[in-house]
Amino acid sequence: MSCIAALSACNTTTKTVEIKERKSESLFNLPKDITEQDVLRGSITPERAWWDLQHYTLSLNVDPATKSISGSNVIKYKVLNEAQALQIELQPPMKITKAEQNGKTLEITTKGYSYFIATNADNKIGSEEAVTVYFEGMPKEAIRAPWDGGITWTKDEQGTDFVASANQGIGSSIWWPNKDHGYDEPDQGIDMHVEVPEHLMNISNGRLISTSHNQDRKTKTYHWKVINPINNYGVNINVGDYVHFGETYRGEKGALDMDYYVLSYNLDKAKKQFKEAARTIEAFEHWFGPYPFYEDSFKLVEAPYLGMEHQSSVTYGNGYQNGYLGRDRSQAGPGLLFDFIIVHEAGHEWFANNITAKDVADLWIHESFTNYSESLFLEYHFGKGTAFKYQRGSRRNPQNQKTIEGLHGVHREGSSDMYDKGGNVLHTIRQLVDSDEKWRQILRGLNKEFYHQTVTAKQVERYIAEQAQLNLAPVFDQYIRDARIPMLEYFIKEKEIDVRWANTIKSFDMPIKVNIDGEERWITPTTKWQTISLAKQAQSFNINKEFYVGSLNILGD
Ligand SMILES: [Zn+2]
Repeated sequence: MSCIAALSACNTTTKTVEIKERKSESLFNLPKDITEQDVLRGSITPERAWWDLQHYTLSLNVDPATKSISGSNVIKYKVLNEAQALQIELQPPMKITKAEQNGKTLEITTKGYSYFIATNADNKIGSEEAVTVYFEGMPKEAIRAPWDGGITWTKDEQGTDFVASANQGIGSSIWWPNKDHGYDEPDQGIDMHVEVPEHLMNISNGRLISTSHNQDRKTKTYHWKVINPINNYGVNINVGDYVHFGETYRGEKGALDMDYYVLSYNLDKAKKQFKEAARTIEAFEHWFGPYPFYEDSFKLVEAPYLGMEHQSSVTYGNGYQNGYLGRDRSQAGPGLLFDFIIVHEAGHEWFANNITAKDVADLWIHESFTNYSESLFLEYHFGKGTAFKYQRGSRRNPQNQKTIEGLHGVHREGSSDMYDKGGNVLHTIRQLVDSDEKWRQILRGLNKEFYHQTVTAKQVERYIAEQAQLNLAPVFDQYIRDARIPMLEYFIKEKEIDVRWANTIKSFDMPIKVNIDGEERWITPTTKWQTISLAKQAQSFNINKEFYVGSLNILGD
């Protein structure tokens, strides 16, 4: 296999290259808690903008005995503009030892964990070139995966090595060198050649192309291939004593291969619990359109942590039980009707992997829609009442202290309210759309319009507003860019009710469905007092409970 050659080359040449630290350009006049590294990591720097990532060939040796990883990555790129240094990230203690192009060693300078490689190709605009980067080290160990990120080196119940990567947030450059920014995905996918001790198996993204036995080294190399664009935090390794079973699902785009890799002693439990997988695909194809990666198949892979949306290689560690580790996150009952990790992480195949945020500040696109996908799964299989109850129950979880939107350009996510609050924002917008079928077509339309693309939140917001033919800008600005939950204040008088929005941005004017004396009607409050005239004094005034808002009866009676 090519990786073996690459690895031995790597091992023999690592100590000969000197890598210098780049001089600070003091270009940055930054707020206190933002570092120059944050800007290099989080923005589309000139050293990133001039090239378009085409493909990775990642060859790795994973050694559980020394908790180390070494290998090479061939980075294929297309030249968009006049060439500059090529920026790649790899976080310590991992390090890049050498870069090569056209048979020559390239000069590298560093700034923090950003590496700037001086390419030697012609780099004619429109041409395709490749740089090979060699790397090695003991990657940061994940202690609380998937929350902290890194590599989990552990043993299964039988004492066999069980190793997995998870790196959402911290980024995939925690264990392999790549263009670590969401905006650019390898258009032609990734080939992974992963060498592991011969008694273990490695499961990665896409399809298994070949396995080769390196008898002299007592290892096996697993070649996995993804042909679709893939977000870099989705690339993963899972090394352990796996067994395989699978099925073919007849879906909207034909036959979908669904493969399951679980630890050998969990096979019986998995065969029962993973029946949820096909039911999940069925529900989500109904709501979101065809599964986005038929060519790369769908997989569930057991992992030594809770789970992660690794593209076409969803990792699972929910203990073969319903709920979230056996609990109902909504506390309303319906959360125990499904396996949270299968449903939530599979939902990300549409929102995170198909439609990917360019900037992690817009990560709510991943988590809000996927949070809402849990309700949509329930709605498809158990009905609207059950689903809506689950969605309302999840309103216990948001803190409403910080915005869902993060800080653009500096690798800063928004608050974790992007999950449950985000889902309820979408549920509220669905009420505004006021048609289940139109809402479904918007969700399907998003997955078509932005198929295999990286997007900004604004693009998604505009698409929804245009399709719904609603002015949703104040709604998104309120719920995504402000931490407060709108409060409908009302004042019941003789033959009128006065209403206004409080606790909001100035322009907030969301219509809302209310019930006055048993009669349902839409009202459109603004932040100024407004009068609803009635024939007689209202005996009851109720706000439709599907809207995520608070209310205050000014007179309190
Ligand atoms: Zn998620």
